[in-house]
Amino acid sequence: MSAEYDVAIVGAGPAGLSAALNLVRARRRVLLVDSNRPRNSATLLSHGFVTRDGISPLELRKLGREEFLGYDEAEHWQTLVTSVTAAEDGFRLDCSYRGEDRSATAGVVLVTTGLQEKLPAIPSLRAYYGTFIHSCIECDAYDKRDQPLAVIGEHPDLAERALLLSQWTDDLVAFTNGADVVTPAEEEHLGRRGIRVERRAIQDVVGDREGLRGVTLVDGETIERSGGFVRPAWSGELGYVAPLGGELDGDGLLVVDGHGRTSVAGLYAAGESTAPGPQQLIVAAGSGARVAATINRDLVGGLAELGDAVQ
Ligand SMILES: Cc1cc2nc3c(=O)[nH]c(=O)nc-3n(C[C@H](O)[C@H](O)[C@H](O)COP(=O)(O)OP(=O)(O)OC[C@H]3O[C@@H](n4cnc5c(N)ncnc54)[C@H](O)[C@@H]3O)c2cc1C
Repeated sequence: MSAEYDVAIVGAGPAGLSAALNLVRARRRVLLVDSNRPRNSATLLSHGFVTRDGISPLELRKLGREEFLGYDEAEHWQTLVTSVTAAEDGFRLDCSYRGEDRSATAGVVLVTTGLQEKLPAIPSLRAYYGTFIHSCIECDAYDKRDQPLAVIGEHPDLAERALLLSQWTDDLVAFTNGADVVTPAEEEHLGRRGIRVERRAIQDVVGDREGLRGVTLVDGETIERSGGFVRPAWSGELGYVAPLGGELDGDGLLVVDGHGRTSVAGLYAAGESTAPGPQQLIVAAGSGARVAATINRDLVGGLAELGDAVQ
């Protein structure tokens, strides 16, 4: 019995949507499965995607889905993939959404389910996240330029992120939230750029509907800030493909070769399911397009026998 779909794509963020479009245009029967929990849903506007600068995250995804679904071989399910297991002719996907269970078989599976984020345990942080406090400096710093900013992080990359952010503001405080993550040499280096390191633990971020007012420290002092950046912890949440035994890296993300192939034949990954730390929408979309080309070539087969010129 042959699989129902040539390719099943798990995750319809920019990586999955871009792969889906390219694969359906390669005349593959494509099932795109998505739980509709985009990582950037906390924000109202997305920046830096050429021709779509300032678009809402939901609108960008809607446009991508509409383009894909314009093709006869395209199918989209809104559901959560709970497991991917080996089947006779490829893989079986089991899905569940609001009490409805469904399954499908596919010759190839592409994982594009991105990252899960965990913010530092600061009570009101989530309320300001995506509007006044962001995580992606490249995406959002322009809109906070020249403001008094906070950069909050409990990871050793805090000094690097602070230095990067100094491109957009001269008034920057790096908050460690009590974690020992900035070395004295780094602090001195940041100091030479006018960036202060604040090592006291944070009690909360404070403000109102109009915006952020500051960062209150454990002793009650509030350092006034109108915006900021925070470093979440990221994880892959790839338990649903665990039965296949694909190799994971130290961050729990799928290890791939330069073309998106995992250690399991027929299982591919693209976007933030493969790369440590955040990327950007257009980078994830590019990754999806690139891996789609590899999948199509692998399915065509026989290209390697033509010689070294064909990769
Ligand atoms: C607050 C915030 C703001 C951002 N702003 C910008 C910006 O302005 N510009 C920019 O370029 N980048 C921005 N980013 C980064 C951008 O969101 C990511 O780079 C991009 O979304 C990664 O794409 P992806 O396709 O790899 O994964 P995602 O976009 O995270 O998509 C993964 C999809 O997989 C689905 N999924 C997960 N598990 C399952 C499962 N088991 N079954 C079915 N579906 C599943 C999810 O519902 C989701 O739809 C921002 C990120 C955040 C957090």
